[in-house]
Amino acid sequence: MATLEFLGAVGEVTGSCYRLIPDEADAEGSILLECGMHQGGAAADAANREDLTSLAGTLSAVALSHGHLDHAGLLPKLVRDGYRGPIHCTNGTRALLEIMLADAAMVMERDTDWQNRRRRGREPLTPIYTMDDVERTLDQCQGHGYGEVVHLPSGIRLVFRDAGHILGSACVDLMVPSAGRERRLVFSGDLGNPDSVLMRAPERLQDADIVLMESTYGDRDHRSLEETLLEFQQVLNEAHKGGGNVLIPAFAVGRTQEILYHLSRLHHAGSLPQTRIFLDSPMAIRVTDLYARYRELLDPEDLRILHQLAAGDPAQYLPGLRRTRTVEESMAINRVHGGAIIIAGAGMCSGGRILHHLRENIGKRATRIIIVGFQAAGTLGRQLVDGASSVRILGDTLDVRASVHTIGGFSAHAGKSQLLAWAGAFRNRPRFYLVHGEPAAQEALQQAMQDQQMDARIPAPLDRIDL
Ligand SMILES: [Zn+2]
Repeated sequence: MATLEFLGAVGEVTGSCYRLIPDEADAEGSILLECGMHQGGAAADAANREDLTSLAGTLSAVALSHGHLDHAGLLPKLVRDGYRGPIHCTNGTRALLEIMLADAAMVMERDTDWQNRRRRGREPLTPIYTMDDVERTLDQCQGHGYGEVVHLPSGIRLVFRDAGHILGSACVDLMVPSAGRERRLVFSGDLGNPDSVLMRAPERLQDADIVLMESTYGDRDHRSLEETLLEFQQVLNEAHKGGGNVLIPAFAVGRTQEILYHLSRLHHAGSLPQTRIFLDSPMAIRVTDLYARYRELLDPEDLRILHQLAAGDPAQYLPGLRRTRTVEESMAINRVHGGAIIIAGAGMCSGGRILHHLRENIGKRATRIIIVGFQAAGTLGRQLVDGASSVRILGDTLDVRASVHTIGGFSAHAGKSQLLAWAGAFRNRPRFYLVHGEPAAQEALQQAMQDQQMDARIPAPLDRIDL
């Protein structure tokens, strides 16, 4: 009988990793679903450094739902530790990984240098992986279209379905021979928010025996897009009146493009008071270009609106937008004391250019910080959301005088009701295993699913289930 083993993202939202062990009769090796990085604090760093050599030796293929680092960020480590087989993903994910993994390697090499300078006399640390490992990883990646049947070893077939979360994101639909019959295993990946712009709505699947389902927002619904935009506009107006800057720590992939889309619509409606908008992230700039290149994967209605507003000229989407690529350009923004919108990474304020903007602006009452995405426990972003009165940034302890606004409606994840609706579309009463969520969210979703007579379970780390 084929089995599934829960290796990561069990009771947490990062480090996604599951192993599908085929039926003994025709086993050619296991299939790894996801190889995600652990994020948030020292424990995560230690987990990311764990040796993957023995895991790599058991694998015949890897399948990936999407390019976010908590799902794909340890692939170069797996390759460094000996994995030489194919990595299957969608074409959009393949393109995104080139940017995401190269950036991750660069950040790691820089962080390791910095740590080593403080470890004088002790044995130097090595980065978890390097650009060479990233290049080998990309060589092993095979891109596929949505709906295409991919044949894996041991007679397993795989189809990617649009998950509507970020460019190239997919649910992984697997047909697995097990004890003389075929079992259908669906892994949701991260499910998109059907209300969000640019992405299509997540595809509803109807057939499965077992479903691994994400539960990030299993305990709450987002506000509607309409309310969200009103809230966003209100904060922008207040910031303008108060004379402060607006800081938006943004995830380079998806959220940034979505925010730019909304800013563009506000601008063309005459309701955007700010005329200077900085996109201060080389990675977000590259990803925005990628979204333009892969526009056939995006929601056609949203693109039509954008096209109409700007009379077909992309330069008119948002005329006040400045893309700052170099460090000098980024530092020069520190001279802008008010009236600007600054979009910079990292999304959870765990590093990146947003840190120096926070250092400049967080002590000013006129500053507005807009949190537009999930903030993992242990990150600076989470401390801000939780109302910390002082925080440590780049070695300094700073009082938080800026106001912090969490605008949850921009989430790239489905909310509770949307998760329930997606799960409710299956016709043949599959068994659900809730993954990729903090315990409170998982328990709330489990309860709601049980109330609707769905069989929802919460696996523990290293649990194995029979298919
Ligand atoms: Zn994701």
